[in-house]
Amino acid sequence: NQDQFKKVVSHAKEYGYIFGSSEIYDGLSAVYDYAQNGVELKKNIRDYWWNSMVRMHQNIVGIDAAILMHPTTWKASGHVDAFNDPLIDNKDSKKRYRADVLIEDYAEKLNQKVQKEVAKARKRFGDSFDEAQYVTTNPRVVGYIEKQKSVLERMARSLEKEDLADVKALIEELGIADPDTGSKNWTDVKQFNLMFGTKLGASAESATDLYLRPETAQGIFVNFLNVQKTGRMKIPFGIAQTGKAFRNEIVARQFIFRMREFEQMEMQFFVRPGEEIKWYEYWKETRLNWHLSLGMGKENYRFHDHEKLAHYANAATDIEFNFPFGFKELEGIHSRTDFDLKAHEKHSGKKLQYFDHEINENYTPYVVETSIGLDRMFLAVLSNSLQEETLEDGSSRTVLKLPFILAPTKVAVLPLLKKDGLPEIAQEIIDDLKWEYNVQYDEKDAVGRRYRRQDAAGTPFCITVDHQTKEDRTVTLRNRDTMEQQRLPIEMLLETLKKHFSM
Ligand code: ATP
Repeated sequence: NQDQFKKVVSHAKEYGYIFGSSEIYDGLSAVYDYAQNGVELKKNIRDYWWNSMVRMHQNIVGIDAAILMHPTTWKASGHVDAFNDPLIDNKDSKKRYRADVLIEDYAEKLNQKVQKEVAKARKRFGDSFDEAQYVTTNPRVVGYIEKQKSVLERMARSLEKEDLADVKALIEELGIADPDTGSKNWTDVKQFNLMFGTKLGASAESATDLYLRPETAQGIFVNFLNVQKTGRMKIPFGIAQTGKAFRNEIVARQFIFRMREFEQMEMQFFVRPGEEIKWYEYWKETRLNWHLSLGMGKENYRFHDHEKLAHYANAATDIEFNFPFGFKELEGIHSRTDFDLKAHEKHSGKKLQYFDHEINENYTPYVVETSIGLDRMFLAVLSNSLQEETLEDGSSRTVLKLPFILAPTKVAVLPLLKKDGLPEIAQEIIDDLKWEYNVQYDEKDAVGRRYRRQDAAGTPFCITVDHQTKEDRTVTLRNRDTMEQQRLPIEMLLETLKKHFSM
């Protein structure tokens, strides 16, 4: 739904959530700044994650490793040799694309054809329509589905074998054209490393080549033994971290879905070899429940289990979310075996093992990781919350129905007029509530317009101070979602709000 997506992007700017980076210089592609409301929403998502991981699990602790790491780290992790995307250029338009993305887009179009056929059939057959049966028996639909499967499988096979000539052949066989110009005049496919390089040191000769980390996980692996020893951690235990990561993404699109500078929230869970699948299942369920706890609709999530596994994994799944542009990866859960610790052991010459007193054995722990992009989660929340509602009187309102716990401003306090002592009372209320909540003062425009503004900014509650307040110290509390207004004494505000926010 491209329209909805465009609305999300412009709303994010208009209501102070996200600006393009260095906009006065026409911006920098795939780099974004979080604005006054965005920074609060982002912080609330990060806290919600951190609390559920670190506070709720006594055997998980956090760290904050540096973005710059010893360059051998990236040799050991495999990023220097294998963190590549396949590139292809169009000779006529001179535009550059990711070959795998072109093929995935082709497959997605087949998927859309299937959806179209399904929708048509549903209309035709009404209540008796059986979708599962239809997609396995209707010859046209079966054809689309099989074609899609074979295209994706062939691509995965060729990429795995590094057979870039076959990736190009596939693009040509499918007749894929430059999305902008329609030209089918392609170059060969080349590999492109996604890591950003930088230099450490003052002079060009003595400088060391470094990378900006492309993921936060390696900061955890290299600190595994430090944390285990100093924290006297017993397996199974986890290390959590949130922080920036950098990838020189070739195709910059879909707003903050794919950025060149982004933030990850990762947790590596160290387990006894042989127990990793049990823990993998545990984290799959636990992470999905975390998402569901935000109330953004069960139907908007699905698992995508990987059939083709990366060389380091023995099980992997994505939690996909229904973004305005379709279901896409939001979080990855991977059973990484002992690949990383073993690789660092080999490259550093330092033992990274654990002595398990319960079974009297020394071993290299296995790792199950959960890895979610904070910005991607932000986009999921924002796009799911933005709604256009038609009210009873036929008028419409734009409302950002953010989960209460994530809303940047929890309460806005509005004096009906800018005089008669009402602003002073409003200020008193703010002074009471600000210890508990992020509170905003708003006195401009008619109160109806202020409600609309707070609805669109996502503020769950408005408190209105009017002339009656001066007489009986009562105020109006208005709920963003139900638009219900309740009259209550100022003294009851904190208690009432607490009840709402704990629901
Ligand atoms: P994709 O296939 O979408 O490029 P990935 O499989 O490379 O993602 P991982 O390396 O598993 O992603 O990273 C874990 C998480 O980090 C992803 O699930 C995603 O939420 C987030 N992420 C990865 N790359 C980006 C990016 N360029 N911008 C924003 N978030 C990202």
